[in-house]
Amino acid sequence: MDKKVTKIGVLTSGGDSPGMNAAIRAVVRTGLYNNLEVFGITRGYMGMIDDDIVPMHSRSVANIIQRGGTILKSARCKEFYEFEGRKKAYENLRKHGIEGLVVIGGDGSFRGAQKFATEFDIPCIGLPGTIDKDMAGTDFTIGFDTAVNTAVEAIDKIRDTADAHDRLFIIEVMGRDSGYIALHSGIATGAENILIPEAKTNIEDLIASLEDKQRRKKLVNLIVVAEGDEFGGAEEVAKVVRQRLPDMDTRVCILGHIQRGGSPSCIDRLVASRLGYAAVEALMEGRHNVMIGIINNKLHYTPLDLAVKAKQKIDKEWLKIVKILAS
Ligand code: ADP
Repeated sequence: MDKKVTKIGVLTSGGDSPGMNAAIRAVVRTGLYNNLEVFGITRGYMGMIDDDIVPMHSRSVANIIQRGGTILKSARCKEFYEFEGRKKAYENLRKHGIEGLVVIGGDGSFRGAQKFATEFDIPCIGLPGTIDKDMAGTDFTIGFDTAVNTAVEAIDKIRDTADAHDRLFIIEVMGRDSGYIALHSGIATGAENILIPEAKTNIEDLIASLEDKQRRKKLVNLIVVAEGDEFGGAEEVAKVVRQRLPDMDTRVCILGHIQRGGSPSCIDRLVASRLGYAAVEALMEGRHNVMIGIINNKLHYTPLDLAVKAKQKIDKEWLKIVKILAS
């Protein structure tokens, strides 16, 4: 695997996350610094199949480090699940002479990259770009810090209005399989309860704790629910609360896609810049089929097949802390 890489491609795939642009910029500029040709592939794997592949220059990535979204666009691509689709993608990469690929995306994108890299001789480097943070092999994922800060800002605002009217607000944040945004934003905003997919929701306990708060005249309460909580989202929780505690003034707020957008935080820009730089170095060193993360402030390389299997675990002690601090 010491074939010298001279042309590389970069793409963003799956769910977008703030900071992807900073990562693209770092890949392009590090590549050019090392005299590599760098190609931007638009709309993830779709662009590989449709041959939407263009050379990138230093100016192509000017003025994007502070922008949310991704200048390369992202997409979900059905054809890439099929061998024929991946073969077409390979042929297009070969046509441009591309010998290494940087995939910025979540675990689904890495599953695709893993298959592609084992079927064809193009080394792939994965950079964790997801607001969910649940990937093993890294303390950071590009976009999580921004998303969670967006949620915190929104929940603080909801608390103001909840306080003015003595209301219970049930706030739904993103996280289909992961409770990280709910947990971190809930703790940081002083939520009374946090419901996440990683911990079983006991609705009786929740009602009992709200009744207790009612008795103690603690009328302003915030419950943060991850959209993928196994009990259901905010609407389902509200339905039960309204039935059981009709005197409580209960409102629902679903934060939705605002959590994906916006200017990336300083942390996300730094993480994305470091990982983008490291991805190019990795391809030049002959590494292949790894996800690059950061653990204890050091670069950490996880084989893609392991990266897609393992999930980052949530420390449940936080849920105990939430209960104690919200009493
Ligand atoms: P994310 O990367 O955010 O988890 P997805 O799960 O939607 O997003 O995956 C993004 C894309 O990666 C899919 O649309 C598909 O093209 C590709 N992909 C995902 N899983 C596989 C797989 N098992 N085989 C081949 N390609 C896959």
